[in-house]
Amino acid sequence: MHEIAIVSSLFEIINRKVKEHRIETISRVCLKVGELTAVEPMTLTACFEVLAEGTAAQGAELMIGTVPLMGLCGSCGISSRVVRYDSVCPCCRGDTVALLNGQELYIESLEATCKGEQSEKTAT
Ligand SMILES: [Zn+2]
Repeated sequence: MHEIAIVSSLFEIINRKVKEHRIETISRVCLKVGELTAVEPMTLTACFEVLAEGTAAQGAELMIGTVPLMGLCGSCGISSRVVRYDSVCPCCRGDTVALLNGQELYIESLEATCKGEQSEKTAT
């Protein structure tokens, strides 16, 4: 399954953060997911809950923000929202639209409580 591999790699990052910042509990994980990753948010959340069990992230809320897919037209230089993968520039109808993003998947932020500290927001 695609999602379980993604969540496993997210947990590698989370576990590193837990050690680095001496995090006790994670209350919220905010993810940014590009449209091209074809990740199913429901499946992602389910995998997250399974892998979070017994870790600092157990019971944490997973927020998934979608990054819209954008393309840059090679003819007129206009960047636009790509709705279909074979996108045509809405401005000049050129078909040399290069994808700018859509493949990203990263942790935007973690809300966590560190040992001996008040709640802290850790940007990654
Ligand atoms: Zn164009």
